[in-house]
Amino acid sequence: MLLTNHPRKAKTIMKLLVTGGAGYVGSVCATVLLEQGHDITIVDNFSTGNRDAVPANATLIEGDIRDVAGDVLAGGNFDGVVHFAARSLVGESMERPEDYWHHNFVTTLTLLDAMRNHGVTNLVFSSTAATYGEPDRVPITEDMPTAPTNPYGASKLAIDYAITSYAHAHGLGATSLRYFNVAGAYGSVGENREVETHLIPLVLQVALGHRDEIFIFGDDYPTKDGTCIRDYIHIKDLADAHVLALESNTPGTHRIFNLGSGDGYSVKEVIDKCREVTGHPIPVTMADRRAGDPAVLIASSARAKAELGWRPSRTDLDTIIADAWAFTAALGDHAHSAHRKP
Ligand code: UDP
Repeated sequence: MLLTNHPRKAKTIMKLLVTGGAGYVGSVCATVLLEQGHDITIVDNFSTGNRDAVPANATLIEGDIRDVAGDVLAGGNFDGVVHFAARSLVGESMERPEDYWHHNFVTTLTLLDAMRNHGVTNLVFSSTAATYGEPDRVPITEDMPTAPTNPYGASKLAIDYAITSYAHAHGLGATSLRYFNVAGAYGSVGENREVETHLIPLVLQVALGHRDEIFIFGDDYPTKDGTCIRDYIHIKDLADAHVLALESNTPGTHRIFNLGSGDGYSVKEVIDKCREVTGHPIPVTMADRRAGDPAVLIASSARAKAELGWRPSRTDLDTIIADAWAFTAALGDHAHSAHRKP
């Protein structure tokens, strides 16, 4: 670790491995870490990531982290790892659970072993609200029961158990960050997936003219307008929490924090806000419920605020959607959705 008096934001510059750094969340976190002066190596196999999203001043290694973790960490003198590389589609995980156990659980175990073999003890792990399943009440705190309802959430929860035991037995210092609904854009990076399933980017694709309408999955939930309520968190606020976690991890300790804005918005409210921001009428069609969708998910991030000193600053839905729209509109015909109109 290099101590420096150079006028940078981070007091201690770290050499960090970022897995999945070509994905939406991974590339924004890599960008923010680079802005702080950290030295970033990205490993990505480009199964879902975008080459355009990889920050220019990061070192890029193309490959599957399961295959290259040992070699990369052996040669690198790394201070820490931020682990994003994963499969993350709930529906796909129901159809092909084996992909989620292999690519999420087995891959992470391989990474943990490589970290242990090469004396790297600082880990931030990208986790999810899906570890909680259907909560009894909201807001969701970290001490509430974990009962995932799909293999995606289960694979992420199993990894948390592995991390906790490695922390206790082998001195790993780790933080798992359980994201609620991440949205928005930062710099030149936003949501631009080949296969899009998330509400805000899909609605914005309608505004862009790349889709005809948005389907609302269920309007008979026990909520104020019958549609599901979610807690949307801005990607930059989310990235900031990763920096704080890396800076405060302690060997032998595994911390878990929920990350959300603490406010819930219904699907209809999100669509209305997108209409306001884009000026587009956004036609909707009511559809059946999507399997496995809980009615209401809202985070309590009190623990992250108290223990990490996390201070989210872009918590209103206007900012989140305006930033996402600026990114999507700028992509125009370069968006993955541009030539498909399902
Ligand atoms: N949703 C919807 N239509 C869509 C996509 C999503 O009504 O085309 C709903 C979905 O049922 C959920 C909310 O929007 O209640 C957020 O879904 P998303 O897939 O963005 O995130 P998730 O909550 O599943 O992580």
